Amino acid sequence: MLDCAIIGGGPAGLTAGLYTTRGGLKNVTLFETGMPGGQITQSSEIENYPGFFEHDKTGMDFMDTWQKQCFHFGLRHEMKKVERVAKTGEHFTVTLEGGESVEALTVIVCTGSTPKRAGIKGEDEYFGKGVSTCATCDGFFYKDKPVTVLGGGDTALEEAFYLSNICSDVYVVHRRDTFRAAPATIDRAMRKENIHFVTNAVIDEIVGDTMGVTGVNIKHNDGTMTHMDNTGLFVFVGHNVNNEVLKDQNGDFICEMNQRGQVIVDLCMRTSVEGLYAAGDIRIEAPKQVVSAAGDGSVAALQVISYIQEQQ
Ligand code: FAD
Ligand code: NAP
Repeated sequence: MLDCAIIGGGPAGLTAGLYTTRGGLKNVTLFETGMPGGQITQSSEIENYPGFFEHDKTGMDFMDTWQKQCFHFGLRHEMKKVERVAKTGEHFTVTLEGGESVEALTVIVCTGSTPKRAGIKGEDEYFGKGVSTCATCDGFFYKDKPVTVLGGGDTALEEAFYLSNICSDVYVVHRRDTFRAAPATIDRAMRKENIHFVTNAVIDEIVGDTMGVTGVNIKHNDGTMTHMDNTGLFVFVGHNVNNEVLKDQNGDFICEMNQRGQVIVDLCMRTSVEGLYAAGDIRIEAPKQVVSAAGDGSVAALQVISYIQEQQ
């Protein structure tokens, strides 16, 4: 029986592993489909993690030392995908891909989220080289420069507003002429002088060179094409929350979730099920940042230690 099963090896899961094992738990396993590190390993640069100020390091370099530190205190890693978590009496059954299962006293779910891609030509090629899904992370790279935002939902317009305080101009490209975002958010964006709307249009192709994005080709609904010179494109076309592990065999969630599929937790990262915690991008109100995901992981781990002590 594991003291704790941690699902997902991004910043939240690795930090949870560090705190549980360094806090004295002997039997903790982190299940991760691939190499630990999480979403940030896709980033070419990280500038907003306090204490880390090395411009030549990628997200992959950044997470490398996390792995070394987090495994140093006895955390085990199994490179396996988790299919499902179920509460069986007082403990949990964690079912792995292939059908094998393990038992655990507690579970911390840290499976993160995945920003959706728009499927534009050049999007994958230039992802991390001018194409971004995170304004807080990458907006500053375009200080006083023009950028393009794709999408017409709350995220696109809120992030366009955030970018408008950093960048010279923000061009919001949206495929319709009405927006999905809340009226107050639309109104606020419309009132900002340096936000410009390009509606009834889609991005047909992202163009660039070896240095990264140089511009976007825009296809208007009337069939005309225009080109915009811009070195940054922010794609905000929705997020997938990686919550499949919390569904039972009937497809129902085992703990309380909000309408967006995020796990409802309290300030201690406790879910509605005793012994089950959620940390990082998967939880409600997540700021979707490495530093906050790591903070959540530590909070959940400290709760796990207290919970196990109370059970003994
Ligand atoms: P994730 O990092 O998403 O990790 C979840 C892990 O769980 C993944 O490794 C995944 O493989 C694993 N997993 C999922 N499902 C399963 C399963 N069923 N079984 C086993 N394992 C599973 N934030 C910043 O603070 N600064 C930045 O500069 C920054 N830049 C970014 C750039 C990019 C390109 C992206 C995509 C994100 C960036 N972010 C940045 C956001 C940051 O990466 C996330 O907020 C953070 O990684 C969330 O951590 P997490 O541990 O909650 O989840
Ligand atoms: P969203 O509401 O699903 O909006 C996605 C936007 O991207 C839509 O405008 C959509 O266009 C567009 N889009 C989707 N696929 C596209 C493609 N392939 N090419 C071009 N455009 C594409 O996603 P979201 O903005 O991330 O919001 C998700 C949920 O979180 C929503 O319920 C939202 O209200 C909520 N949210 C709330 C807040 C808040 O309350 N402060 C903040 C952020 C998010 P169409 O409109 O034409 O479909």
